Amino acid sequence: MTEPFPLSPALWAATAAPAPPTPALEESTSADVCVVGGGYAGLSTALHLAERGIRAVVLEAREPGWGASGRNGGQVIPGLKFDPDEIVGMYGAERGQRLIEFAGATADVVFDLIEKHRMDVPWLRTGWIQGAHTAANVELVKSRAEQWSRLGAPVEFLDEPAVASLLGTDRYLGGWLDRRGGAIQPLSYARGLAKAAIAAGARIHGDTSATRVVRTGARWSIETARGSTVTADRVVICTNGYTGELWPQLRQTAIAINSYQVATEPLGDDLLRSVMPEGQVLSDTRKLLLYFRLDHTGRLIMGGRGPFREPKGERDWAHLVRVVAKMFPQLAGMPIAYRWCGRIAVTRDHLPHLHEPAPGLLIDMGCQGRGVGLQSALGKAMAEYIATSDANALPLPFTPIEPIPFHGLQRVYVGAVVTWYRLTDGGLRR
Ligand SMILES: Cc1cc2nc3c(=O)[nH]c(=O)nc-3n(C[C@H](O)[C@H](O)[C@H](O)COP(=O)(O)OP(=O)(O)OC[C@H]3O[C@@H](n4cnc5c(N)ncnc54)[C@H](O)[C@@H]3O)c2cc1C
Repeated sequence: MTEPFPLSPALWAATAAPAPPTPALEESTSADVCVVGGGYAGLSTALHLAERGIRAVVLEAREPGWGASGRNGGQVIPGLKFDPDEIVGMYGAERGQRLIEFAGATADVVFDLIEKHRMDVPWLRTGWIQGAHTAANVELVKSRAEQWSRLGAPVEFLDEPAVASLLGTDRYLGGWLDRRGGAIQPLSYARGLAKAAIAAGARIHGDTSATRVVRTGARWSIETARGSTVTADRVVICTNGYTGELWPQLRQTAIAINSYQVATEPLGDDLLRSVMPEGQVLSDTRKLLLYFRLDHTGRLIMGGRGPFREPKGERDWAHLVRVVAKMFPQLAGMPIAYRWCGRIAVTRDHLPHLHEPAPGLLIDMGCQGRGVGLQSALGKAMAEYIATSDANALPLPFTPIEPIPFHGLQRVYVGAVVTWYRLTDGGLRR
Protein backbone atom coordinates (compact mmCIF):
# COMPACT_ATOMS: atom_id res chain seq x y z
CA MET A 1 0.00 0.00 0.00
CA THR A 2 1.38 3.45 -0.79
CA GLU A 3 1.96 5.77 2.14
CA PRO A 4 -0.62 8.54 2.27
CA PHE A 5 0.22 11.46 4.53
CA PRO A 6 1.49 9.70 7.69
CA LEU A 7 -0.65 9.67 10.80
CA SER A 8 2.07 10.89 13.15
CA PRO A 9 1.88 14.64 12.46
CA ALA A 10 -1.89 14.69 12.82
CA LEU A 11 -3.66 16.34 15.71
CA TRP A 12 -5.49 13.20 16.75
CA ALA A 13 -2.34 11.13 17.09
CA ALA A 14 -0.85 13.84 19.30
CA THR A 15 -3.84 13.91 21.67
CA ALA A 16 -5.14 10.33 21.61
CA ALA A 17 -5.39 7.77 24.37
CA PRO A 18 -2.60 5.18 24.12
CA ALA A 19 -3.08 2.36 21.63
CA PRO A 20 -3.58 -1.17 22.93
CA PRO A 21 -0.95 -3.72 21.93
CA THR A 22 -1.84 -5.24 18.56
CA PRO A 23 1.11 -7.50 17.67
CA ALA A 24 1.65 -8.59 14.10
CA LEU A 25 0.41 -12.05 13.17
CA GLU A 26 3.60 -14.11 12.81
CA GLU A 27 2.10 -17.61 13.17
CA SER A 28 -0.86 -18.98 11.24
CA THR A 29 -4.04 -19.26 13.22
CA SER A 30 -7.71 -20.07 12.95
CA ALA A 31 -10.87 -18.23 13.98
CA ASP A 32 -14.60 -18.22 13.42
CA VAL A 33 -14.40 -14.88 11.61
CA CYS A 34 -11.47 -12.98 10.09
CA VAL A 35 -12.06 -9.24 9.77
CA VAL A 36 -9.82 -7.32 7.38
CA GLY A 37 -9.41 -3.63 8.24
CA GLY A 38 -9.12 -2.07 11.69
CA GLY A 39 -11.27 1.04 11.33
CA TYR A 40 -14.62 1.64 13.02
CA ALA A 41 -16.38 -0.92 10.82
CA GLY A 42 -13.91 -3.76 11.37
CA LEU A 43 -13.38 -3.02 15.06
CA SER A 44 -17.09 -2.70 15.80
CA THR A 45 -17.75 -5.97 13.94
CA ALA A 46 -15.06 -7.74 15.96
CA LEU A 47 -16.27 -6.26 19.26
CA HIS A 48 -19.88 -7.28 18.67
CA LEU A 49 -18.86 -10.75 17.46
CA ALA A 50 -16.64 -11.28 20.49
CA GLU A 51 -19.45 -10.19 22.80
CA ARG A 52 -21.51 -13.01 21.31
CA GLY A 53 -18.74 -15.51 21.95
CA ILE A 54 -17.72 -15.69 18.28
CA ARG A 55 -13.93 -15.88 17.86
CA ALA A 56 -12.82 -12.95 15.73
CA VAL A 57 -9.37 -12.07 14.40
CA VAL A 58 -8.77 -8.60 12.94
CA LEU A 59 -5.99 -8.04 10.41
CA GLU A 60 -4.98 -4.39 10.10
CA ALA A 61 -2.24 -3.33 7.69
CA ARG A 62 -0.98 -0.59 10.04
CA GLU A 63 -2.64 0.02 13.40
CA PRO A 64 -6.27 0.36 14.53
CA GLY A 65 -7.53 3.76 13.39
CA TRP A 66 -4.74 4.29 10.86
CA GLY A 67 -7.25 4.86 8.04
CA ALA A 68 -10.13 7.33 7.95
CA SER A 69 -11.16 6.31 11.48
CA GLY A 70 -8.12 8.00 13.01
CA ARG A 71 -8.07 10.99 10.66
CA ASN A 72 -11.66 12.21 10.44
CA GLY A 73 -13.28 15.34 11.80
CA GLY A 74 -14.77 13.49 14.78
CA GLN A 75 -18.25 14.80 14.00
CA VAL A 76 -20.86 12.27 15.02
CA ILE A 77 -23.66 12.77 12.51
CA PRO A 78 -26.76 10.60 12.36
CA GLY A 79 -28.56 9.82 9.12
CA LEU A 80 -27.47 9.09 5.59
CA LYS A 81 -26.97 11.52 2.74
CA PHE A 82 -30.64 10.93 1.86
CA ASP A 83 -33.63 12.34 3.73
CA PRO A 84 -36.33 10.10 5.27
CA ASP A 85 -38.87 10.76 2.49
CA GLU A 86 -36.27 9.94 -0.16
CA ILE A 87 -35.36 6.71 1.64
CA VAL A 88 -38.99 5.57 1.68
CA GLY A 89 -39.19 6.47 -2.01
CA MET A 90 -36.08 4.38 -2.71
CA TYR A 91 -36.80 1.32 -0.57
CA GLY A 92 -40.57 1.32 0.03
CA ALA A 93 -42.39 1.79 3.33
CA GLU A 94 -41.22 -1.22 5.31
CA ARG A 95 -37.56 -1.53 4.32
CA GLY A 96 -37.31 2.27 4.11
CA GLN A 97 -38.63 2.66 7.65
CA ARG A 98 -36.09 0.15 8.96
CA LEU A 99 -33.29 1.98 7.20
CA ILE A 100 -34.46 5.32 8.59
CA GLU A 101 -34.51 3.89 12.12
CA PHE A 102 -31.05 2.45 11.63
CA ALA A 103 -29.67 5.70 10.21
CA GLY A 104 -31.32 7.83 12.90
CA ALA A 105 -29.70 5.74 15.65
CA THR A 106 -26.11 5.65 14.38
CA ALA A 107 -24.96 8.45 16.71
CA ASP A 108 -26.56 6.60 19.65
CA VAL A 109 -24.43 3.57 18.82
CA VAL A 110 -21.24 5.64 19.17
CA PHE A 111 -22.13 7.37 22.42
CA ASP A 112 -23.55 4.15 23.91
CA LEU A 113 -20.35 2.24 23.09
CA ILE A 114 -18.19 4.97 24.63
CA GLU A 115 -20.27 4.86 27.80
CA LYS A 116 -20.70 1.09 28.01
CA HIS A 117 -17.00 0.36 27.63
CA ARG A 118 -15.91 3.43 29.62
CA MET A 119 -13.68 4.46 26.74
CA ASP A 120 -11.06 7.11 27.31
CA VAL A 121 -12.56 9.36 24.62
CA PRO A 122 -13.27 13.08 24.94
CA TRP A 123 -16.84 13.53 23.68
CA LEU A 124 -19.60 16.11 23.62
CA ARG A 125 -23.23 15.65 22.60
CA THR A 126 -24.29 19.20 21.85
CA GLY A 127 -25.59 18.50 18.36
CA TRP A 128 -24.62 18.75 14.71
CA ILE A 129 -25.55 21.78 12.61
CA GLN A 130 -25.88 21.67 8.87
CA GLY A 131 -25.37 25.21 7.60
CA ALA A 132 -27.21 26.30 4.44
CA HIS A 133 -25.00 28.33 2.13
CA THR A 134 -27.71 29.39 -0.39
CA ALA A 135 -31.39 30.33 -0.20
CA ALA A 136 -32.33 27.10 -2.00
CA ASN A 137 -30.45 25.13 0.62
CA VAL A 138 -32.29 26.94 3.41
CA GLU A 139 -35.47 25.36 2.00
CA LEU A 140 -33.69 22.01 1.79
CA VAL A 141 -32.59 22.01 5.44
CA LYS A 142 -36.01 23.26 6.53
CA SER A 143 -37.59 20.24 4.85
CA ARG A 144 -34.92 17.95 6.33
CA ALA A 145 -35.65 19.25 9.83
CA GLU A 146 -39.40 18.86 9.27
CA GLN A 147 -39.04 15.26 8.11
CA TRP A 148 -36.94 14.19 11.08
CA SER A 149 -39.09 16.19 13.48
CA ARG A 150 -42.17 14.33 12.21
CA LEU A 151 -40.37 11.13 13.18
CA GLY A 152 -39.81 12.44 16.70
CA ALA A 153 -36.09 13.27 16.38
CA PRO A 154 -34.74 16.14 18.52
CA VAL A 155 -34.08 18.53 15.63
CA GLU A 156 -34.91 22.11 14.80
CA PHE A 157 -34.68 24.55 11.91
CA LEU A 158 -32.38 27.52 12.54
CA ASP A 159 -33.03 30.86 10.89
CA GLU A 160 -30.15 33.15 9.94
CA PRO A 161 -29.72 34.90 13.30
CA ALA A 162 -30.02 31.60 15.20
CA VAL A 163 -27.38 29.85 13.11
CA ALA A 164 -25.07 32.90 13.35
CA SER A 165 -25.39 32.96 17.11
CA LEU A 166 -24.60 29.25 17.52
CA LEU A 167 -21.69 29.28 15.08
CA GLY A 168 -20.20 32.69 15.69
CA THR A 169 -20.08 33.40 11.95
CA ASP A 170 -22.51 35.20 9.64
CA ARG A 171 -21.62 33.10 6.58
CA TYR A 172 -24.78 30.95 6.58
CA LEU A 173 -28.33 31.85 5.63
CA GLY A 174 -29.88 29.26 7.92
CA GLY A 175 -29.42 25.68 9.01
CA TRP A 176 -30.78 22.88 11.09
CA LEU A 177 -29.64 21.50 14.41
CA ASP A 178 -29.73 17.77 15.05
CA ARG A 179 -29.27 17.23 18.77
CA ARG A 180 -28.55 13.52 18.29
CA GLY A 181 -25.11 14.45 16.93
CA GLY A 182 -21.94 15.57 18.63
CA ALA A 183 -18.17 15.27 18.71
CA ILE A 184 -15.53 12.74 19.69
CA GLN A 185 -11.76 12.41 19.56
CA PRO A 186 -11.81 10.01 16.60
CA LEU A 187 -8.53 8.17 17.09
CA SER A 188 -9.20 7.68 20.80
CA TYR A 189 -12.56 6.22 19.82
CA ALA A 190 -10.93 3.79 17.34
CA ARG A 191 -8.48 2.76 20.05
CA GLY A 192 -11.34 2.49 22.55
CA LEU A 193 -13.15 0.11 20.19
CA ALA A 194 -9.95 -1.91 19.77
CA LYS A 195 -9.44 -2.15 23.54
CA ALA A 196 -13.06 -3.15 24.11
CA ALA A 197 -12.86 -5.78 21.35
CA ILE A 198 -9.67 -7.26 22.84
CA ALA A 199 -11.21 -7.26 26.32
CA ALA A 200 -14.22 -9.15 24.90
CA GLY A 201 -11.90 -11.80 23.42
CA ALA A 202 -11.13 -10.61 19.87
CA ARG A 203 -7.55 -10.76 18.61
CA ILE A 204 -6.25 -7.74 16.71
CA HIS A 205 -3.08 -7.88 14.66
CA GLY A 206 -1.53 -4.64 13.46
CA ASP A 207 1.20 -4.40 10.82
CA THR A 208 -0.46 -7.37 9.13
CA SER A 209 -1.72 -6.74 5.65
CA ALA A 210 -4.09 -9.30 4.14
CA THR A 211 -2.90 -10.12 0.64
CA ARG A 212 -5.23 -12.87 -0.59
CA VAL A 213 -8.59 -14.30 0.35
CA VAL A 214 -9.20 -17.81 -0.99
CA ARG A 215 -11.81 -20.47 -0.41
CA THR A 216 -10.32 -23.73 0.95
CA GLY A 217 -13.04 -26.36 1.20
CA ALA A 218 -15.78 -25.10 3.48
CA ARG A 219 -13.55 -22.42 5.04
CA TRP A 220 -11.57 -19.35 3.97
CA SER A 221 -7.84 -18.77 4.03
CA ILE A 222 -6.67 -15.22 4.46
CA GLU A 223 -3.03 -14.92 3.55
CA THR A 224 -0.93 -12.09 4.94
CA ALA A 225 2.14 -10.19 3.78
CA ARG A 226 4.00 -11.74 6.75
CA GLY A 227 3.54 -15.27 5.39
CA SER A 228 1.04 -16.22 8.10
CA THR A 229 -2.51 -17.33 7.27
CA VAL A 230 -5.82 -17.08 9.08
CA THR A 231 -8.27 -19.91 8.44
CA ALA A 232 -11.84 -18.89 9.20
CA ASP A 233 -15.46 -19.81 8.50
CA ARG A 234 -16.26 -16.25 7.54
CA VAL A 235 -14.43 -13.18 6.27
CA VAL A 236 -15.51 -9.56 6.60
CA ILE A 237 -13.69 -6.98 4.48
CA CYS A 238 -13.87 -3.42 5.87
CA THR A 239 -11.08 -1.62 4.06
CA ASN A 240 -13.16 1.22 2.62
CA GLY A 241 -11.15 4.18 1.23
CA TYR A 242 -7.93 2.19 1.72
CA THR A 243 -9.11 -0.82 -0.29
CA GLY A 244 -6.45 -2.43 -2.46
CA GLU A 245 -6.66 -5.47 -4.72
CA LEU A 246 -7.74 -7.98 -2.05
CA TRP A 247 -11.00 -8.84 -3.76
CA PRO A 248 -11.53 -8.51 -7.53
CA GLN A 249 -13.02 -5.20 -8.66
CA LEU A 250 -13.92 -4.04 -5.14
CA ARG A 251 -11.62 -1.02 -5.24
CA GLN A 252 -13.25 0.06 -8.49
CA THR A 253 -16.73 0.30 -6.88
CA ALA A 254 -15.89 3.59 -5.13
CA ILE A 255 -13.75 6.65 -5.61
CA ALA A 256 -11.27 7.21 -2.80
CA ILE A 257 -11.26 10.97 -2.31
CA ASN A 258 -8.84 12.79 -0.02
CA SER A 259 -10.42 15.13 2.50
CA TYR A 260 -8.14 17.72 4.10
CA GLN A 261 -8.12 19.35 7.54
CA VAL A 262 -6.21 22.01 9.45
CA ALA A 263 -6.21 22.70 13.20
CA THR A 264 -5.25 25.97 14.85
CA GLU A 265 -3.44 26.36 18.13
CA PRO A 266 -5.85 26.36 21.11
CA LEU A 267 -7.92 29.56 20.87
CA GLY A 268 -7.92 30.81 24.44
CA ASP A 269 -10.93 31.89 26.50
CA ASP A 270 -11.66 35.22 24.79
CA LEU A 271 -11.83 33.73 21.30
CA LEU A 272 -13.72 30.68 22.52
CA ARG A 273 -16.54 32.98 23.61
CA SER A 274 -17.07 34.02 19.98
CA VAL A 275 -16.37 30.81 18.01
CA MET A 276 -19.01 28.05 18.23
CA PRO A 277 -19.68 29.09 21.84
CA GLU A 278 -22.11 26.25 22.60
CA GLY A 279 -19.89 23.48 21.24
CA GLN A 280 -21.89 22.19 18.25
CA VAL A 281 -20.12 20.78 15.19
CA LEU A 282 -20.89 21.86 11.63
CA SER A 283 -20.83 20.66 8.09
CA ASP A 284 -22.56 22.59 5.34
CA THR A 285 -24.71 22.06 2.27
CA ARG A 286 -21.97 22.61 -0.30
CA LYS A 287 -21.32 19.74 -2.66
CA LEU A 288 -17.65 20.13 -1.70
CA LEU A 289 -18.64 20.57 1.87
CA LEU A 290 -16.84 22.53 4.52
CA TYR A 291 -16.86 21.14 8.05
CA PHE A 292 -15.58 22.61 11.27
CA ARG A 293 -15.64 22.23 15.03
CA LEU A 294 -13.65 22.93 18.15
CA ASP A 295 -11.77 20.03 19.71
CA HIS A 296 -11.55 19.29 23.42
CA THR A 297 -8.44 21.46 23.75
CA GLY A 298 -10.09 24.50 22.12
CA ARG A 299 -8.51 24.27 18.67
CA LEU A 300 -10.58 25.13 15.61
CA ILE A 301 -10.51 22.30 13.08
CA MET A 302 -11.50 23.22 9.52
CA GLY A 303 -12.00 20.52 6.91
CA GLY A 304 -12.83 20.42 3.23
CA ARG A 305 -11.66 19.58 -0.25
CA GLY A 306 -8.04 19.35 -1.36
CA PRO A 307 -6.02 17.85 -4.19
CA PHE A 308 -7.08 14.39 -5.29
CA ARG A 309 -3.45 13.22 -5.22
CA GLU A 310 -1.59 12.77 -1.95
CA PRO A 311 -0.43 16.13 -0.53
CA LYS A 312 2.95 17.52 -1.41
CA GLY A 313 3.32 20.35 1.06
CA GLU A 314 1.64 23.04 3.15
CA ARG A 315 0.24 24.83 0.11
CA ASP A 316 -2.20 21.96 -0.39
CA TRP A 317 -4.01 23.19 2.75
CA ALA A 318 -3.69 26.94 2.01
CA HIS A 319 -7.33 27.27 0.85
CA LEU A 320 -8.55 25.93 4.21
CA VAL A 321 -6.42 28.43 6.11
CA ARG A 322 -8.07 31.18 4.04
CA VAL A 323 -11.51 29.75 4.88
CA VAL A 324 -10.71 29.90 8.61
CA ALA A 325 -9.97 33.63 8.31
CA LYS A 326 -13.07 34.33 6.21
CA MET A 327 -15.40 32.30 8.39
CA PHE A 328 -14.01 33.75 11.63
CA PRO A 329 -12.19 37.04 10.91
CA GLN A 330 -11.04 37.16 14.53
CA LEU A 331 -8.89 34.08 13.76
CA ALA A 332 -7.04 35.62 10.78
CA GLY A 333 -3.33 34.99 11.22
CA MET A 334 -3.89 32.36 13.92
CA PRO A 335 -1.03 29.83 13.64
CA ILE A 336 -1.94 26.49 12.09
CA ALA A 337 -0.58 23.68 14.24
CA TYR A 338 -1.65 20.60 12.24
CA ARG A 339 -2.45 19.71 8.66
CA TRP A 340 -3.55 16.25 7.58
CA CYS A 341 -5.84 14.33 5.26
CA GLY A 342 -7.46 10.96 4.78
CA ARG A 343 -9.43 8.96 2.24
CA ILE A 344 -13.18 8.73 1.95
CA ALA A 345 -14.74 6.05 -0.26
CA VAL A 346 -17.60 7.54 -2.28
CA THR A 347 -19.91 5.25 -4.26
CA ARG A 348 -21.84 6.27 -7.36
CA ASP A 349 -25.22 6.13 -5.60
CA HIS A 350 -23.89 7.79 -2.41
CA LEU A 351 -25.01 4.80 -0.35
CA PRO A 352 -22.86 2.41 1.64
CA HIS A 353 -22.66 -0.95 -0.14
CA LEU A 354 -22.92 -4.39 1.43
CA HIS A 355 -21.76 -7.29 -0.73
CA GLU A 356 -21.78 -11.03 -0.23
CA PRO A 357 -20.01 -12.23 -3.38
CA ALA A 358 -19.58 -15.76 -2.01
CA PRO A 359 -21.06 -17.63 0.96
CA GLY A 360 -19.27 -16.56 4.15
CA LEU A 361 -17.66 -13.46 2.63
CA LEU A 362 -19.13 -10.13 3.68
CA ILE A 363 -17.95 -6.74 2.40
CA ASP A 364 -18.79 -3.23 3.64
CA MET A 365 -17.71 -0.51 1.23
CA GLY A 366 -18.40 3.19 0.71
CA CYS A 367 -18.56 5.26 3.90
CA GLN A 368 -19.44 8.51 2.00
CA GLY A 369 -17.57 10.71 4.49
CA ARG A 370 -20.16 10.25 7.22
CA GLY A 371 -18.91 7.07 8.79
CA VAL A 372 -18.26 7.68 12.48
CA GLY A 373 -21.76 6.59 13.42
CA LEU A 374 -22.57 4.69 10.24
CA GLN A 375 -19.57 2.35 10.27
CA SER A 376 -19.88 1.71 14.02
CA ALA A 377 -23.53 0.78 13.53
CA LEU A 378 -22.86 -1.27 10.40
CA GLY A 379 -20.22 -3.26 12.32
CA LYS A 380 -22.80 -4.04 14.97
CA ALA A 381 -25.34 -5.05 12.32
CA MET A 382 -22.83 -7.23 10.44
CA ALA A 383 -21.97 -9.06 13.66
CA GLU A 384 -25.66 -9.71 14.25
CA TYR A 385 -26.07 -10.98 10.69
CA ILE A 386 -23.12 -13.34 11.10
CA ALA A 387 -24.46 -14.62 14.43
CA THR A 388 -28.06 -15.10 13.28
CA SER A 389 -27.86 -15.52 9.47
CA ASP A 390 -30.89 -13.20 9.41
CA ALA A 391 -30.45 -10.71 6.55
CA ASN A 392 -32.99 -8.45 8.27
CA ALA A 393 -30.24 -7.62 10.75
CA LEU A 394 -28.65 -5.61 7.95
CA PRO A 395 -30.07 -2.18 7.13
CA LEU A 396 -29.39 -2.49 3.41
CA PRO A 397 -29.83 -5.28 0.89
CA PHE A 398 -26.78 -6.93 -0.62
CA THR A 399 -25.80 -5.54 -3.99
CA PRO A 400 -23.50 -6.96 -6.66
CA ILE A 401 -19.94 -5.66 -6.93
CA GLU A 402 -20.25 -3.23 -9.85
CA PRO A 403 -17.12 -1.33 -10.84
CA ILE A 404 -17.53 2.32 -11.79
CA PRO A 405 -16.98 2.56 -15.56
CA PHE A 406 -13.59 4.04 -16.50
CA HIS A 407 -12.50 3.90 -12.85
CA GLY A 408 -8.87 4.16 -13.96
CA LEU A 409 -9.64 7.69 -15.13
CA GLN A 410 -10.95 8.75 -11.70
CA ARG A 411 -8.30 11.43 -11.28
CA VAL A 412 -9.48 13.10 -14.47
CA TYR A 413 -13.17 13.03 -13.82
CA VAL A 414 -12.92 13.80 -10.11
CA GLY A 415 -10.88 16.85 -11.14
CA ALA A 416 -13.61 17.89 -13.58
CA VAL A 417 -16.39 17.33 -11.03
CA VAL A 418 -14.48 19.24 -8.34
CA THR A 419 -14.00 22.19 -10.68
CA TRP A 420 -17.69 22.14 -11.56
CA TYR A 421 -18.73 21.95 -7.89
CA ARG A 422 -16.35 24.77 -6.95
CA LEU A 423 -18.00 26.96 -9.56
CA THR A 424 -21.55 26.03 -8.60
CA ASP A 425 -21.00 26.05 -4.82
CA GLY A 426 -19.81 29.64 -5.00
CA GLY A 427 -17.48 31.31 -2.53
CA LEU A 428 -18.15 32.18 1.07
CA ARG A 429 -20.94 34.68 1.54
CA ARG A 430 -20.09 38.39 2.08
C1 LIG B 1 -10.48 13.61 6.54
C2 LIG B 1 -11.75 12.89 6.87
C3 LIG B 1 -12.73 13.53 7.62
C4 LIG B 1 -13.91 12.86 7.94
N1 LIG B 1 -14.78 13.44 8.81
C5 LIG B 1 -15.86 12.74 9.24
C6 LIG B 1 -16.69 13.26 10.25
O1 LIG B 1 -16.42 14.34 10.81
N2 LIG B 1 -17.79 12.55 10.62
C7 LIG B 1 -18.07 11.32 10.07
O2 LIG B 1 -19.09 10.72 10.41
N3 LIG B 1 -17.24 10.77 9.14
C8 LIG B 1 -16.15 11.44 8.75
N4 LIG B 1 -15.30 10.86 7.85
C9 LIG B 1 -15.58 9.50 7.38
C10 LIG B 1 -15.18 8.43 8.41
O3 LIG B 1 -13.92 8.73 8.95
C11 LIG B 1 -15.14 7.08 7.73
O4 LIG B 1 -16.40 6.84 7.13
C12 LIG B 1 -14.87 5.92 8.66
O5 LIG B 1 -13.79 6.18 9.51
C13 LIG B 1 -14.61 4.67 7.84
O6 LIG B 1 -14.33 3.63 8.71
P1 LIG B 1 -13.94 2.22 8.10
O7 LIG B 1 -13.67 1.31 9.23
O8 LIG B 1 -14.97 1.81 7.15
O9 LIG B 1 -12.62 2.50 7.24
P2 LIG B 1 -11.17 3.01 7.67
O10 LIG B 1 -11.17 3.69 8.97
O11 LIG B 1 -10.61 3.77 6.52
O12 LIG B 1 -10.37 1.67 7.89
C14 LIG B 1 -9.92 0.85 6.84
C15 LIG B 1 -8.67 0.13 7.36
O13 LIG B 1 -8.38 -0.94 6.48
C16 LIG B 1 -6.98 -1.13 6.53
N5 LIG B 1 -6.62 -1.95 5.37
C17 LIG B 1 -6.74 -1.65 4.05
N6 LIG B 1 -6.34 -2.69 3.30
C18 LIG B 1 -5.96 -3.67 4.15
C19 LIG B 1 -5.45 -4.98 3.98
N7 LIG B 1 -5.26 -5.50 2.75
N8 LIG B 1 -5.14 -5.72 5.07
C20 LIG B 1 -5.33 -5.21 6.32
N9 LIG B 1 -5.82 -3.96 6.53
C21 LIG B 1 -6.12 -3.20 5.47
C22 LIG B 1 -6.43 0.28 6.51
O14 LIG B 1 -5.10 0.33 7.01
C23 LIG B 1 -7.43 1.02 7.39
O15 LIG B 1 -6.98 1.14 8.72
C24 LIG B 1 -14.13 11.53 7.48
C25 LIG B 1 -13.15 10.89 6.72
C26 LIG B 1 -11.98 11.55 6.42
C27 LIG B 1 -10.92 10.83 5.64
